[in-house]
Amino acid sequence: MCKIIAVANQKGGVAKTTSVRNMAYSLGELGKRVLAVDFDPQANLTASFVDDSTSVHITIADVMNKAMDEEELPNKVEYIHSHGKVDFIPSSIHLSVVEANLRMEMGSEKLLSNILEPLRDDYDFILIDTNPSLGPLTINALSAADSVIIPINPEYYATMGLTDLTKTILKIRKRINPGIQFEGILMTMCDMQTNLHKEVCAEVTEAYGNGMKIFKMQIPRSIRVGEANRYGMSVIDFDRKSKAGLAYSEVAKELISNGNKANS
Ligand code: ADP
Ligand code: MG
Repeated sequence: MCKIIAVANQKGGVAKTTSVRNMAYSLGELGKRVLAVDFDPQANLTASFVDDSTSVHITIADVMNKAMDEEELPNKVEYIHSHGKVDFIPSSIHLSVVEANLRMEMGSEKLLSNILEPLRDDYDFILIDTNPSLGPLTINALSAADSVIIPINPEYYATMGLTDLTKTILKIRKRINPGIQFEGILMTMCDMQTNLHKEVCAEVTEAYGNGMKIFKMQIPRSIRVGEANRYGMSVIDFDRKSKAGLAYSEVAKELISNGNKANS
C-alpha cells in the first residue's frame, strides 16, 4: 500500500529538502518503490537530482496548471524522472506563479492530491518536499498526504512555529483530509554535545511526545550533508560511513516499520 508523506515546516533551513532527498534514497536502497515530489518553487530538491535544470521540460508547475484549468494531465512519463532507484517530479520557479493563482481559485486544495492519487499503484512511498510557508502549496501538499513529517532544527526558535503548523494540520484534517496523520517530528542537524540542543530536544519531547511520534533516530549535524548536497548526492552515497547518512537509513527503516504497524 502506498503512503504519501508531506515533509513540512514553514521555517526555512530545517532540512526538509535534505530529509526528502536522503529518506527517498534510503527507501530506494531498502527495495521500496519511491517517488520524491519537489513542491517548492526554489526547486532545491530538483537541483539535487539534476545537474542542469534546462534538461527538465515538464515540471510540477505545468502539471498543476493543467489540473487548475481542468485539462487533461500530461502523460506521467513526461514529468516523472528517474535517478538511480528514486523517481522524482521536478519543480521550477514557475511554481510560484501557480501559488499566486491558487490563492484565487476556489476549492483548489485537492489539485496535487488529484495528480498523485493515480500514482499510488506505482509506489510504496511518495515523499513531498514543501516550501517554507503555510500558504496554498503547503496546504495542497497536506491535503494530498496520508501523513506529515515535521523536521526540526533544535535551535532556540525551533518550537515557536510548531503550534501554527499543528493547528493548520488539524484544520486540514477537519475540513479537507480527514485521514492525515502525524508521522512524526524529525530532529535534524543535532549536536547533542551542546546543552541547547539537549534542552530543545527535551522540550519538544515534553510538549509533543504524548500526542505525536518523535523519530527515535536524530540526524546529526555533519559537514558531509552540505558536501553531498553540493555534488547532488545523498549523504550515504557520498560517504558510506557518514553518521548523518546512516541516521537517514534508520529513519527510512522506522518509516517502513510504522507502515507495517499500521497495516497489522
Ligand atoms: P529546507 O529545505 O528546510 O529549507 P535544507 O534541506 O535546504 O532545508 O537544508 C538547509 C541547509 O542545511 C542546507 O545548506 C543543508 O546542506 C544544511 N543541512 C541539512 N541537514 C544538515 C545536517 N544534518 N548537517 C549539516 N548541515 C545540514
Ligand atoms: Mg527546501
